[in-house]
Amino acid sequence: DKPAEDKLYFESYADVSIHEEMIADSVRTDTYRKAIFNNQSEIEGKVVLDVGAGTGVLSVFCAQAGARKVYAVEASSIADQAEKIIKQNKVDMIVEVIKGALEEVDLPEKVDVIVSEWMGYALLHESMLNSVISARDRWLKPGGLMLPDKAELFIAPVNDLVVEERLGFWSTVKTQYGVDMSCMTDFARKCITASSEIIIKPVTVEDVLSHPVKFAELDLNAVGVEHLSSVRGRFRCLCFGSAAFNAFCVFFSVTFPGSRHPLVLSTSPFKPETHWKQAVLYLDHAVEVMQDTLVEGDVNMYPSQEGSRHICIHVDYTVGRRKGNRRPSLFLMDLR
Ligand code: SAH
Repeated sequence: DKPAEDKLYFESYADVSIHEEMIADSVRTDTYRKAIFNNQSEIEGKVVLDVGAGTGVLSVFCAQAGARKVYAVEASSIADQAEKIIKQNKVDMIVEVIKGALEEVDLPEKVDVIVSEWMGYALLHESMLNSVISARDRWLKPGGLMLPDKAELFIAPVNDLVVEERLGFWSTVKTQYGVDMSCMTDFARKCITASSEIIIKPVTVEDVLSHPVKFAELDLNAVGVEHLSSVRGRFRCLCFGSAAFNAFCVFFSVTFPGSRHPLVLSTSPFKPETHWKQAVLYLDHAVEVMQDTLVEGDVNMYPSQEGSRHICIHVDYTVGRRKGNRRPSLFLMDLR
């Protein structure tokens, strides 16, 4: 049930580790810092709401950028640490920590700006975007600023070499012990890759088999919670060259508005690694592709029935003429 799920969810943010990982992710934290200072003219003298403030780092950035008032709403007990951090940085006259779930707290006024770092694995894991949308609809003044204001989802076919090498092991047993175990390969592939789990790991650039393709985009000024029950789109990729295609990788970017140019926080395998890494969905067979082999299909992302903070990704695809589909889910106690 929802309250029990939320309790577990907020408890996962009570420990230091997850905050350490997020703050240490300098791509993430620096991009938010830059985005906030890029929008300084919109923040100076204004009221900001930080949805899910955690340690309060984004609230402190906003105070440093000249906000008149920042409401730092945080439901997990990490809020106690945020209070200390805000005092230590002498912005406690500006930043007010409000302990509780965004959906349940009352703010004394409407806000000019909402900042939030709500993205989970594969963007939508954790379903925290629902809370940001409800914050926007309840507390943001008309025409107010959303940081970030756009999210995009991408997919690409990959060849996970580590898995192929692990499967190759069964063909080496004979030379070592004189027992041929190469017939284990199919079984091993089933065990390793045909599981119904999404694996979070960094994908090596060399393993990516085509240009990634955007399959969905969310305008965070406008998207409604009803859109999040199914985020879907089509993709068409042309492979770079000969390879064994054995997985899809899914990743996202978010964009911050800016007076000069927008700023992008990307979790692409072609960009510096972030703590989100990439989401990998293994196929149950490897498929040989060549230069210009067409890989196309539909992706549908939706909250799992077994827990609405968990995400399922359903991919219907064809490679050349061969059809297939994967519908793995991401079930992790660690939400990041
Ligand atoms: N802003 C911090 C933390 C981001 S992690 C940073 O950038 O480092 C997301 C945080 O949002 C977690 O601490 C989580 O407990 C909190 N959170 C998620 N949903 C929330 C909600 N509905 N109400 C209040 N806090 C929420």
